[in-house]
Amino acid sequence: MTQVLHMTASQPASQPASQPATQPASPPTQHATSAPRYAALEPCLEAHLHLLVAQAAALETLDSFVMRLAQLAAPSRLFCTGRATPLAIDTTFCPNEDDLAAELSRTLAQCTPGTRLYLAGDEAFLWRMHRLAREAGLEREEIAATPIGTQRAVYCVHCANTHVYSASDEVTCARCKVRLSVRDHFSERMGAWLGVCADADRPYAEAHA
Ligand SMILES: [Zn+2]
Repeated sequence: MTQVLHMTASQPASQPASQPATQPASPPTQHATSAPRYAALEPCLEAHLHLLVAQAAALETLDSFVMRLAQLAAPSRLFCTGRATPLAIDTTFCPNEDDLAAELSRTLAQCTPGTRLYLAGDEAFLWRMHRLAREAGLEREEIAATPIGTQRAVYCVHCANTHVYSASDEVTCARCKVRLSVRDHFSERMGAWLGVCADADRPYAEAHA
C-alpha cells in the first residue's frame, strides 16, 4: 500500500491528505525553503521508460505499483537496496545506497527524454536520489516521490553538517553534539530540514555538557 502524503509545515508526516493523486507530484515553481510536497506514485502513461528506485523497506509496500508498471507497454526497471524475491520487472539489487546512487547515475546518463522516475523511501533517501536525477538532467515533473519510513535528514547550522535521524522535534547533532531543534524549514537543495540550537540561551552548548 502506498500512502498519499502532502506534507506541509502544519501537518504531521503521518496525516494522509485528501488531495487526489492526479495532482502534480512536484510544484511547478522552485520552493527552496518550503516543506516538501509528495503524492502517491502513479504510472505516467506517456513515459517511454519507467525507473522505480526504492529502499528495501519501501519496496514491501509497492507490490501493486510494481504490478501496474509490469502491465505497461513501455519497459520498466527497478533499482533497490537489499535483496528481495524476483519481481515482475527487470530488477537491479544494490548492496547499499551508494551503489544504488552510482547505478542510477549510470542509467540516467543513457536515458532519453520520456523517462519517468519514481522514488520510494525515507525522506533522506528521496532527496538524495532526487538531487542526483536533477543533476542528470531530469525535470522536476519527470520525478515522482513518495515517503515511506520516518528517517529524515537534518542540517546543523552550527557545524554545517547533515546527518540522518529518526523523526523527532529535537536531535543531537552527530558531529558537533549540539542539541538541535528541527524547524519546519526544508531545503530541497540539501534535502534536509534545518536544525538550530534547541537552547537559545546556550547556543553552542553541547548536549552532554
Ligand atoms: Zn552540528
